[in-house]
Amino acid sequence: MPAFAGMTLWTSGMAANKNVAIVGGGIGGLAAALALIRHGVEVEVYEQAPELKELGAGVQISSNGTRVLYALGLGKAIEKVGVIVAGKEIRLWSTGQTWKLFDLGAVSVERYGFPYMMFHRGDLHGALLQAIRRERPEAVRLNRKCVGLSQSADGVEMRFESGEKASAPLVIGADGVQSRVRAALFGADRPEFTGIVCWRVLVPRERVPAGIKLDVGTNWVGPGGHVVHYPVRGGELLNLVGLLERDDWRVESWTVQGSKDEFSNDFRNWHPDIHAMIRAGETPYKWALFSRPPMPAWTKRRVTLLGDACHSMLPMLAQGAVMALEDGMVLARCIEKYGIAPAALQRYETVRRERANRAVAGSADNARRFHNPDLANAEGAEAYVTREWQEEKVKQRYEWLFTYDATGVAI
Ligand SMILES: Cc1cc2nc3c(=O)[nH]c(=O)nc-3n(C[C@H](O)[C@H](O)[C@H](O)COP(=O)(O)OP(=O)(O)OC[C@H]3O[C@@H](n4cnc5c(N)ncnc54)[C@H](O)[C@@H]3O)c2cc1C
Repeated sequence: MPAFAGMTLWTSGMAANKNVAIVGGGIGGLAAALALIRHGVEVEVYEQAPELKELGAGVQISSNGTRVLYALGLGKAIEKVGVIVAGKEIRLWSTGQTWKLFDLGAVSVERYGFPYMMFHRGDLHGALLQAIRRERPEAVRLNRKCVGLSQSADGVEMRFESGEKASAPLVIGADGVQSRVRAALFGADRPEFTGIVCWRVLVPRERVPAGIKLDVGTNWVGPGGHVVHYPVRGGELLNLVGLLERDDWRVESWTVQGSKDEFSNDFRNWHPDIHAMIRAGETPYKWALFSRPPMPAWTKRRVTLLGDACHSMLPMLAQGAVMALEDGMVLARCIEKYGIAPAALQRYETVRRERANRAVAGSADNARRFHNPDLANAEGAEAYVTREWQEEKVKQRYEWLFTYDATGVAI
């Protein structure tokens, strides 16, 4: 039996008689809400959207994230929809030459206790939402776009676009990269365009070109860009993401459609396999990647931040959503231990901030590594890949992430 299968659901004796408000019902906000419910805390989630759904894209959750999902009681639900791949491979943009990056599958469970899983974002989000609704059908409130908040000695008042107001003794801003809660606490941020444009598309399994492996995650690397693909939704779909250094598109939105021709043109000299996947895919979407410097603080008295609201990162380490899952678990444990009080939020920030900021830096390092000019020609690339993806170096880059235990770390 795998080590994680026997894990018991997290419960506590704390009375469910006080509430915490969460602004934002994305993966981070819902994970925090479920963790709080499991710790006996009343919770309300205020989400701006009129209905709850995630966009059509994939998300990889490494063992440090699936550990949290199992502890939240979601083991069966995620095993139904997630895909456990055998490992990850690196491929060269021009020739398609392939190198092993690391083994996953049973190796992840053996080494870290939990699997590395690939999801359609909607499936993971749906699993969190269903679990919350089973416990508290009314916990998630839609059409509530938070536009500001103010604090007094004993509570926080949130204001919504509709003119409504709500209050709670503690508020968690899980409202993503363009967080209004962060702006209310610390003022407007100054995001910097990274010069990278990101494409995403889903390819139905029956249209995946021959020669594309469906049992591994693949990372094509090349000068000025990289392409990632992996199976999601029990293998029914392939998630394809392409990132390219390009200066003429600066819209930070997940919902802008592009065209297959434009996507293909961005990767015009790349391997035919990539173009075959783009052609086989549905309509692609594009998004400009912005970076924000690590924040020196996340908390002001009765309000704190979580997930992309306080540590958005480039996607090159595949840890943004995973960090949000870890945040939610640690936050719930701190509230259980220190009570519904500012001290709990301060402790949460102290436990989490350095690690999350290290992941922000690690993601930026990987961007330089994946897009390196040394990958331009095949001979130089061989030496570069052998050096940069040596087993010891890979361990240094990932081991500290995968071994972390948000359910047991000292708080
Ligand atoms: C191309 C790409 C690939 C990625 N791949 C991975 C990966 O493989 N693994 C991984 O771990 N991470 C990955 N990430 C990062 C991951 O997507 C994010 O870190 C994660 O979605 C953050 O979750 P969140 O809940 O903090 O924010 P979000 O997912 O942005 O959710 C925020 C929620 O708040 C709501 N909201 C916003 N403003 C308001 C408001 N004012 N009032 C009320 N509600 C509001 C939004 O509607 C939304 O529901 C990737 C990112 C990109 C761009």
